[in-house]
Amino acid sequence: MRTATNAGLFERARQIFPGGVNSPVRAFGAVGGTPRFVVRGEGAYLWDVEGARLLDYIASWGAVILGHGAPPVVEAVQQAVGQGAAAGVPSPAELDLAGLIQAALPSVERLRFVSSGTEAVMSAIRVARAATGRPAIVKFAGCYHGHADPLLARSGSGVATLGLPDSAGVPAEATRHTLVAPYNDAEAVADLFRTAGDHIAAVVVEPVAANMGVVLPQPDFLPALRELTWRYGAVLIFDEVITGFRVAWGGAQRRYGITPDLTCLGKVIGGGLPVGAYGGRRDLMEQVAPLGPVYQAGTLAGHPVVMAAGAAVLRRLADPGVYDVLEARASRLAAGLRRALDGRASVAQAGAMLTVFFRPAPPLDDAQARQCDTRAYAAFFHAMLARGILLPPSQFEAWFLTLAHADEEVAATVAAAEETA
Ligand code: PLP
Repeated sequence: MRTATNAGLFERARQIFPGGVNSPVRAFGAVGGTPRFVVRGEGAYLWDVEGARLLDYIASWGAVILGHGAPPVVEAVQQAVGQGAAAGVPSPAELDLAGLIQAALPSVERLRFVSSGTEAVMSAIRVARAATGRPAIVKFAGCYHGHADPLLARSGSGVATLGLPDSAGVPAEATRHTLVAPYNDAEAVADLFRTAGDHIAAVVVEPVAANMGVVLPQPDFLPALRELTWRYGAVLIFDEVITGFRVAWGGAQRRYGITPDLTCLGKVIGGGLPVGAYGGRRDLMEQVAPLGPVYQAGTLAGHPVVMAAGAAVLRRLADPGVYDVLEARASRLAAGLRRALDGRASVAQAGAMLTVFFRPAPPLDDAQARQCDTRAYAAFFHAMLARGILLPPSQFEAWFLTLAHADEEVAATVAAAEETA
């Protein structure tokens, strides 16, 4: 019998999936080498087909926060599956998870479950456009909101500008109403409102950016977005698909004390299963069908297995002190990495996520993030992988901690980073 290897499976996968993967970053394109094919996860660790144990900082791209195979989640899923878990009709499980979300996020007066973060943001924008009767949206360079056409826009030349399609297959018309500003640049957004305020339906933002690596909002940034959207009658959408239950119980809106009109969620609220949700002000959400004229639907939305997994996670996260533990460990890891990589890299951290940037100081926007030494990151990535530590295979992604990343894992990570110096 042939033993499976990572290289062998990747070769086979390349004959089946574009690039051998079902989501591009998994292919290791930015760092080179062969992706690991994982067969098992437990706590902070994954095991690949060759039997190698990997300390995992990908954590399903932030979706897993209790650790892999957390017993309460496994039990909840098994029970839901055992009950025959019918999707497509209402079930009480939807109310359980929604109740937990609303307890953490009082701004979410009404919500709707969908099956991915992409759908959540796409739908929130549709609601904002319907409610305001305006076409344009403002997004920020370096923020990712899923792969819906209008959001696959990059900035053209100039400070704040009309978005250009960022992917083949997206017609220029699809991003015609997407305005792109630099992250952390409230003045650029003010300019956009001064010139096009009557057309802007919404500002959509990752309140802590995590898709150019972790980029923290500067103190004036989110308050300015809140003030401008109020002043011009536009909708403020926080895309908390990553930050939702990761940077605090109650997400970035709780951490920074800014209340958006609509919030998009995903990842953690599904306990590692496919999920998304959008919600917020009641008057806005009442635009959604069947109550209002905004059409949005989903065959498997609110799936009882997903709802049960998500509720099991949020119940654990509601325990007092959980976020203090996550924050303390992530801060300790960040401090250790700063020491270990002194002079080579800088670290940005918020709650249970961080990024090591191969540049002297953490970036404030996409342009600064792009100045990172991506070759140095790739070398660091492989040096850590050789020591059994799996980092995100790109400079421009966040590292995610779980509750299972205890002091021992933090210490082992810092020690490995020291060895790479
Ligand atoms: N919004 C943010 C901030 C994300 O990070 C992502 C995915 O990483 C999405 C939206 C899209 O979510 P999904 O991949 O579930 O469609």
